[in-house]
Amino acid sequence: MTGSERGPFVAAAILDSLATFDLCRARMDDAWRLMERLYPICRSITGAGTRATLAVIGERIPLQLTEVPSGTPVFDWEVPNEWTVREAWIEDEAATRIVDLRNHTLHLMSYSVPVDATMSLEELRPHLYSLPDHPDWIPYRTSYYRENWGFCLPHRQIESLRPGRYRVRIDSELKPGSLTYGECVIEGEVDDEVLLFTHVCHPSLCNDNLTGIALATELAAQFCASRPRLTYRFVFAPGTIGSITWLARNEAHVGRVRHGLVLGLAGDRGPITYKRSRRGDAAIDQIAAFVLKDFGARARMVDFSPYGYDERQLCSPGFNLPVGRLTRTPNNEYSEYHSSADDFSLIDKDALAESLFAAASMLRIADRDATYLNLNPKCEPRLGKRGLFRLTGGTHPGEFEHALLWVLNQSDGSSSLLAIARRAGLPFDIVASAADALAQVGLLRRQEPDARSGVVS
Ligand code: ZN
Repeated sequence: MTGSERGPFVAAAILDSLATFDLCRARMDDAWRLMERLYPICRSITGAGTRATLAVIGERIPLQLTEVPSGTPVFDWEVPNEWTVREAWIEDEAATRIVDLRNHTLHLMSYSVPVDATMSLEELRPHLYSLPDHPDWIPYRTSYYRENWGFCLPHRQIESLRPGRYRVRIDSELKPGSLTYGECVIEGEVDDEVLLFTHVCHPSLCNDNLTGIALATELAAQFCASRPRLTYRFVFAPGTIGSITWLARNEAHVGRVRHGLVLGLAGDRGPITYKRSRRGDAAIDQIAAFVLKDFGARARMVDFSPYGYDERQLCSPGFNLPVGRLTRTPNNEYSEYHSSADDFSLIDKDALAESLFAAASMLRIADRDATYLNLNPKCEPRLGKRGLFRLTGGTHPGEFEHALLWVLNQSDGSSSLLAIARRAGLPFDIVASAADALAQVGLLRRQEPDARSGVVS
């Protein structure tokens, strides 16, 4: 049977625009432009930089913003004061600016309190942060929950500072405002949701976290042009406090989450890393294993651990959502992590495209996977008279015919299409197309999934 003969039976697949690596590679110019626009913005967990970032993302995809007031209790935490910074610099006795926020957003410790003072080098030193092992890099430091201030600069520069008086100026404000997050929801045929989460709180850092933003934005943009079965919710929020806040506000709805992925660190040259959900056997974990086996040594699967990004909250025991994490080299496992060396030179367009391809391949399966019941289970039904099987005997059946037989044999209501594809060693799309064809002629009936389990057999 040729592809055109079975064409009418094939349900419209989602994300056809990202169905191959080359198609994903073709999206990289847009992704790169987005990252270049976002790179200079001074982001933090609240404030103007985060809003500016969401505004740029909102030019590409429809984004609904939520502002949660400072002081709002969110489980064991509360939404912090909003941070605003206008300028931050240090001048030496000759009035030469030795460090200035204008030159790099990493120069100022995020959430630094206001300072306007002149002090000795000894007094200044405890507020200077550097990386002695990498003396030319600027580290990334934050102090969200303890009032403090600091400047981050290359270790070589700190070493060269001479004793004397230094003028320190940080024109910042910490006062009640709000925490901002953005959501892009692509409504599907059903309310069951796929949750895609990425953090948006790091300043000028590329792999962590502009690649996650670019990956999520490209996926969302392509979803906007398709009609998925499941509903897709992309959340762009500050790390940790953002997911805690989102969960606190959406606790009543999280039962809809069938699958989820935390996206980030998607563009370095290391292998793709899928971190399993806390459940370990959620459907998304099985989908990831199925997709990534084709990547060979370019991908690896790791078990859940309560360290990392927003999976820490989404997979906390009170939620235990079926959410895995897709990254390349994980946090803290590459030397440029959280430093100025995490810039565009660390990012490889092919690697970012490969991450996009992996994520899209997983979501294409998640959207199409289902469990069916064979309505003619006693002996094989006659497929030839239904136009589904070649009419000439004696030739070896092709992949599609094999898929028809596998789907009929395994569809006793307990095996998903993914499980059948895995057992048969066939591509998922062929198995899903076979199921569509069999359902079309009344030989299969789709079983309604248990929305809360997120587990396939
Ligand atoms: Zn980070």
